[in-house]
Amino acid sequence: MQGLRALPSVDRLLSMPEGQDLIERHGRAAVTGALRMALEDARETVRQGGAAPDGAAIASRAAETLEAGAESALRPVLNLTGTVLHTNLGRAVLAEAAIEAASAAMRHPAALEFDLATGRRGERDTLVAPLICELTGAEAATVVNNNAAAVWLALNTLAEGREAIVSRGELVEIGGAFRIPDIMARAGVRLVEVGTTNRTHPCDYQNAVRPDTALMMKVHPSNYRIEGFTAAVSPAEIARMAKAAGVPMLNDLGSGTLVDMTRWGLPPEPTVKQAVAEGADIVTFSGDKLLGGPQAGCIVGRADLIARINRNPLKRALRLDKIRLAAIEATLRLYRDPDRLAERLPTLRMLTRPREEIVAQAQRLLAPVAAMLPEYRVEVVDCTSQIGSGALPVETLPSAALAFTGEGGDAPDKLAARLRALPVPVIGRIREGALLLDLRCLHDDGALLGALAAR
Ligand SMILES: *Cc1c(COP(=O)(O)O)cnc(C)c1O
Repeated sequence: MQGLRALPSVDRLLSMPEGQDLIERHGRAAVTGALRMALEDARETVRQGGAAPDGAAIASRAAETLEAGAESALRPVLNLTGTVLHTNLGRAVLAEAAIEAASAAMRHPAALEFDLATGRRGERDTLVAPLICELTGAEAATVVNNNAAAVWLALNTLAEGREAIVSRGELVEIGGAFRIPDIMARAGVRLVEVGTTNRTHPCDYQNAVRPDTALMMKVHPSNYRIEGFTAAVSPAEIARMAKAAGVPMLNDLGSGTLVDMTRWGLPPEPTVKQAVAEGADIVTFSGDKLLGGPQAGCIVGRADLIARINRNPLKRALRLDKIRLAAIEATLRLYRDPDRLAERLPTLRMLTRPREEIVAQAQRLLAPVAAMLPEYRVEVVDCTSQIGSGALPVETLPSAALAFTGEGGDAPDKLAARLRALPVPVIGRIREGALLLDLRCLHDDGALLGALAAR
């Protein structure tokens, strides 16, 4: 076919200025591959009777493929869903201090398992354990990959092949695959359920104690609330009964927090310090929920039990790397100065933003945003933000949003898809036929205006 011969060769394309330009940006190997694909498309066009595209057109086709492939899969987004700790959007945004510490740990060798005083081998856990103990009042501490791992490791170490007693009101599922009964089974622990869904009494625990009992467990019912005719046994009471039975008490706090949140007008959430003071032998909690750090699971409690947990061979498989250890240490240090915590810890800063400040921001953004999306009606509306990640599921925080409506019932969905396709995707939520952009987590106006302008 005549047209096919008019097409340039790959070598010819590579030596053209357009080809050289692409090599500079993406490397020869990738460009060669993309040009071959673009040439194949061009041949197909000619075979179907179309005109042969010239070299520049083929190179530009290849450039599109290369640009698309060069975009990171883990893209930064603007979280305007109103859920501050959004598990699908990576939960906590880290504090500047944590980001700096993590980059330093990435950039330089670090004394990860090296005792600088003696020059001998050290323990990576000793980097953060004293700080965690200081902030929680616990005797000892260790950290692993996440709280799911913390719970598994504690169960497996303390009760493998034996029984653990848990209330039927606390057999939670935390999104996806984390279910207490399944984790127990995988830890090799026999679950002994006691009480009923809504009511569990001290005698339920006491009557379930047998020679094979290894543990009494309390699980924070993170993402749900049982209301009405209910009764639960307090952690202090379970700890007392466990002591009487001669077994440890494990309290999985889920989110947990290191400071009393009511200080900032937030709903109360049990602190790790309280859980330790109430007599729990082991307490587990997440690093990236209310704590506001990187993904991690903290295990604190009795020194003899923490030592056993550290000796579990699977601990190695669940351990943290230097990057996250550096970020956790820096995050925890911020808790030494609670007065400035809300300024420095993004999670707390976003949770404590007053409604009036968010309303003012929404009013400021209304006109410029409306001008950028003239096909939609935009207004400022009241809404409620959520803490997220299963922390305080019922309580909400008063907030404000930009609400978009348009022609046709699918207008909000279409706009949502369009905003997700931006170079910096903007993620909102749909409520009653409108797309809401809850501004609680928008740190500066420019971030939203810049994202929308990049269409
Ligand atoms: C969130 C949660 C977990 C799991 O923690 P991750 O850090 O997400 O692994 C376990 N238990 C409870 C009660 C939780 O709320």
